[in-house]
Amino acid sequence: MIRSSALGYPRIGDNREWKKAIEAFWAGKLGEDDLHAELKAIRLGRLRKQKELGIDLIPVHDFSYYDHVLDTAAMFGLVPPRFRYGGGPVPLSVYYAMARGSKDAAACEMTKWFDTNYHYIVPELNGTNPALTFNGPLRAYREAKEELGIEGKPVILGPVTFLKLSKGYPPEQADSWLEKLLPLYLRVFRELADEGAAWVQVDEPIVAAELSEEDMRRLEFAYGEIAKAVPELNVMLQTYFESADRYDRIAELPVRGIGLDLARGLAGNLASLEAHGFPGDKILGAGIVDGRGVWRADLREKRALLDRLRGFVPDDRLIVQTSCSLLHVPVSKAREDRLPPALKEALSFADEKLAEAVWLARTARLGEGEPAEELAGCDSALRAMADSPARQRRDVREAVEELRAASPARSKPFAERRAVQEEKWRLPLFPTTTIGSFPQTAEVRKARELWRKGEWTEERYEEFIRGRIEEWIGLQEKIGLDVLVHGEFERTDMVEFFGEKLDGFAFTRYGWVQSYGSRCVKPPIIYGDVAFREPMTVKETAYAQSLTTRPVKGMLTGPITILNWSFVRDDLPREEVAYQLAYALRREVEALEKAGIGMIQVDEPAVREGLPLKASQRQAYLDWAVRAFRMATCAVKDTTQIHTHMCYCEFQDMIGSIEAMDADVISIESSRSHGELLDSFERETYPLGIGLGVYDIHSPRVPAAEEMEATIHRALRVLDPKLFWINPDCGLKTRGREETEAALGHMVKAARSARAKY
Ligand code: GLN
Ligand code: ZN
Repeated sequence: MIRSSALGYPRIGDNREWKKAIEAFWAGKLGEDDLHAELKAIRLGRLRKQKELGIDLIPVHDFSYYDHVLDTAAMFGLVPPRFRYGGGPVPLSVYYAMARGSKDAAACEMTKWFDTNYHYIVPELNGTNPALTFNGPLRAYREAKEELGIEGKPVILGPVTFLKLSKGYPPEQADSWLEKLLPLYLRVFRELADEGAAWVQVDEPIVAAELSEEDMRRLEFAYGEIAKAVPELNVMLQTYFESADRYDRIAELPVRGIGLDLARGLAGNLASLEAHGFPGDKILGAGIVDGRGVWRADLREKRALLDRLRGFVPDDRLIVQTSCSLLHVPVSKAREDRLPPALKEALSFADEKLAEAVWLARTARLGEGEPAEELAGCDSALRAMADSPARQRRDVREAVEELRAASPARSKPFAERRAVQEEKWRLPLFPTTTIGSFPQTAEVRKARELWRKGEWTEERYEEFIRGRIEEWIGLQEKIGLDVLVHGEFERTDMVEFFGEKLDGFAFTRYGWVQSYGSRCVKPPIIYGDVAFREPMTVKETAYAQSLTTRPVKGMLTGPITILNWSFVRDDLPREEVAYQLAYALRREVEALEKAGIGMIQVDEPAVREGLPLKASQRQAYLDWAVRAFRMATCAVKDTTQIHTHMCYCEFQDMIGSIEAMDADVISIESSRSHGELLDSFERETYPLGIGLGVYDIHSPRVPAAEEMEATIHRALRVLDPKLFWINPDCGLKTRGREETEAALGHMVKAARSARAKY
């Protein structure tokens, strides 16, 4: 009686066929018809799989050629004028130009999808004329029915969230835009209903963030109109990533079902259910299988939860589902053959999660002893993981506890450190430096591949890396930079590199997830207590320092960034894992210092990403993030200069926390949002060393020295010149060698010219 449902399934295929097909199309190696054929095969394959697993309500139209937010914009003809689109179905060339830019038009902005690592294309409404260009959900519904006999559940991004995620309109025009978009939604729904679709899943994830009165009013208006226009269609208003805000009013919306996240949003949603009950005329989409994490569901616990929910809703109005789309987890763990067995048993990726949802729905009505076999299997897998020695490192636990209790801080305040650091380092006004990485050329990648395959010996590879370090130390001296770096040639990825060298991490072979467009990432899994084994970066950094008399800055990835870019164990609070990471990094910082490295940068580009969706929880997160950073960095001598780096802008609301990190110098990505960032520094003066990126490393363009100097002078209107550093926006690993040399040369020239004026 209880049904099972999924909210969305990974698009990328078992072997990232999706990515390969799309990239081949971009490269001109696959024709448009072949692209359509390949993607169709992937699309149908995932439907077939869900059917075989026994899912009752299979989502359709959760697939995409790039991103579902871009699809929604294209479906409604919302193409910015610079793409010269003339109406009708949006051609693939225009669609991909919006995503990636073309020679005549800059790409649309891309940004993070709520608090996940998925990025969507931001719709731009100005200058567009909304019109239904084609009915994507209808086409997907038909395809599933005709090709596979599947009665699919079309998924569509809801109007209020869509509008909220869009830009290019003043806030006072939100209502009129909603009025323009709503008729298009109504046509989509009308055609679906006429075709015989029973359900439509309308995603409104903003409900799980925080709703203003305006948002709430818009939801009431929009869903009222939908109910009037298409009363026979069952609308599942789907929320996810947290508990529903304003639950009492959400529950009253005139929709057939409400989907709640009962994994991440469990506490809040249960409290709402207790306080207000669940409406007697609605269906509950109970998201009890966590769609974001990679851990196996505790079936006993989930059954107990389901029983509790059955107290609010009868079985025929209960659907067991994943808490959100499975876009955020890898496809399947089946082929992982190199993981520790206890870990593999404790994991659950998309396919395994669907199987859990089906099992829970089917066995919910059986008594405790009846589905005994699966329960016992699950119990023993979870117990084996919990009891594994990797999860109980006394040494780590005790050291972390001690550190935390001591509330970590540098031994002197910044003003005093600054005096001794000036004395020691004797840097010029506006010191110049870079963010850490230098071009990872084809040659560097090839060398690593050969070494990984065993074709190159360890010695040969190390010698190669030393060669690159030598080359770039020489180049940096020639360019005239003041603080040098070794260049990070030995690192593929700033998290993986450290994960591989620390205890407590595991790496999958096939665990890819979509990050943006065709780009996929394979996040490490933090499954055990994190522990330092041996120095990770000392060899390369000390070698670089041995080649020059100028200071070489050591380069580490910070605890919060490692945390936010990994899948993290769920038996400990994230805060605790962050402290373990911080403790391990602290030992690396100590090792660097001991090896004579007196400037150490601890990168934290991903702090912003972990910010909770609910404003009320943000400060607590920032506080423990700051504490973790300080734990990692505060053990050093006063003369040792701690640097940090952050990117992805929008720091306006967290400058207080950035200051509390107490890094002697921070470099911030800002060239693309200069004005806004400076405005916020105008309001609150920043009292520590700071470098604002003076050129955008995301583009091959080499800006003139004059242009960079203008940026410097603009920043100096609000920042203290004595604390100001000059650097590019971010690491240079994706750039070519020539453009990097040229741009850094201009940067040094701009710095010298600016110095002369002070
Ligand atoms: N040190 C890193 C680099 O230069 C920082 C990367 C980042 O900020 N994402 O590559
Ligand atoms: Zn950066």
